[in-house]
Amino acid sequence: MSHYDCLVIGAGFAGAVTAGELARRGHRKVLVLERRNHVGGNAYDCLDNAGVLIHQYGPHIFHTSDKRVYDYLSRYTAWRDYQHQVVANIPHGTGRLQYPVPFNLISLETAFGPERAHALEEKLIAAYGAERKVTILELRENPDPEISALADYVYEHVFVRYTMKQWGQKPEEIDPATTARVPVFLSRDCRYFQDPYQGMPAEGYTPMFKKLLDHPDITVELETDAARRLSLGDEVLLDGEPFSGPVIYTGTLDELFGCRFGRLPYRTLDFRFETYDTDFFQSHGTVNYTVDQDFTRITEFKRLTGQVLPGVTTIMKEYSRSYTGSDGETPYYAVINDANNALYGRYAALAEQYPNVYPLGRLAEYKYYNMDAIVGRALALADQLLGG
Ligand code: FAD
Ligand code: UDP
Repeated sequence: MSHYDCLVIGAGFAGAVTAGELARRGHRKVLVLERRNHVGGNAYDCLDNAGVLIHQYGPHIFHTSDKRVYDYLSRYTAWRDYQHQVVANIPHGTGRLQYPVPFNLISLETAFGPERAHALEEKLIAAYGAERKVTILELRENPDPEISALADYVYEHVFVRYTMKQWGQKPEEIDPATTARVPVFLSRDCRYFQDPYQGMPAEGYTPMFKKLLDHPDITVELETDAARRLSLGDEVLLDGEPFSGPVIYTGTLDELFGCRFGRLPYRTLDFRFETYDTDFFQSHGTVNYTVDQDFTRITEFKRLTGQVLPGVTTIMKEYSRSYTGSDGETPYYAVINDANNALYGRYAALAEQYPNVYPLGRLAEYKYYNMDAIVGRALALADQLLGG
């Protein structure tokens, strides 16, 4: 018999929060198995060779409207107040133009000049209301010729090529909820998110995860793939012995079952880091290249983290492509559509045959979840397992 009460696969937000709750609130002995050589999942951060605090797996900005989630994480980190702003950078004549994304009333003025922008603003607000968020797909359905021309402009200059780079498909071909994350915003608020709680962990994400997992009843084994220890046959086995405690599984569900129905489609990313001998490289934390370039966006970490480090800065370019499952590739984004959801459903049905196995998280649930959603779901699962 194992001397652990619970098994957690993966030490990202889903795994770390559940493990922390089961140990602290539930007094359970928890074993966490993590395939990578560090905790934190995709939110992991570390110093690079130049001493810059970087996000190894893409830029992570915390934002939430869920006070429980914010208060919960605040027990493990202080926060740096940071309100993320993004601009689109596009070719314009012989130079380049930048304006806020989500495309808003400031973007409108930058793209069309004050006079035309003013007329369009009045029309848009009459049609949708001030401070409203309108998705690009919704805007494109507007029959008014001037609004329709604006919708075409935004589609062409903000959405279509960025989405082709990110997904290999056009905005109208992907899940509408994806482009709805970045609406047209009838406002002069240039922030990327409007949630009441936003910021960056003051010391970084990794120290926050270490605190979350620092408990005498939590054992974390790094560089340990669950496939080596866990098997699901007639029953759940851990190291060859039956395991009847809760198994919280946060990896991909197809892998858990040997991809027997075929691989679930994901997008992966290649990250290119570049370090420059200058204080700052660009004007904003993230600059989206919505019309040209092979990469989607450039993030400058010092602008996110507020790290004071004169004379040097590190940026990251993101290149998206299909995930193939080859060694060293990471699945980052579920490709959500009816066919893929149906395939996921087949794996979910297999998992349901094991009443003590709980798929949780962005990978295991095949969803486009932000960090706060995962923390909320992990807290809810802990509530359920601990009886309220
Ligand atoms: P993960 O972080 O993926 O953690 C899963 C862990 O399980 C990993 O460490 C993995 O190694 C491990 N694992 C998997 N399979 C096994 C196995 N078989 N055995 C052992 N271990 C295994 N969210 C925001 O709120 N704000 C942002 O700005 C933001 N930016 C993002 C940028 C990018 C490029 C990406 C890809 C995501 C971003 N997110 C952002 C989303 C955020 O990363 C996720 O919501 C969050 O990390 C999900 O946590 P998780 O625990 O479900 O998954
Ligand atoms: N998007 C776009 N242009 C932009 C920003 C976003 O076309 O300048 C679309 C694109 O399809 C992208 C989606 O909106 O995948 C969601 O963008 P978000 O910034 O939320 O993506 P993430 O940060 O999760 O990669």
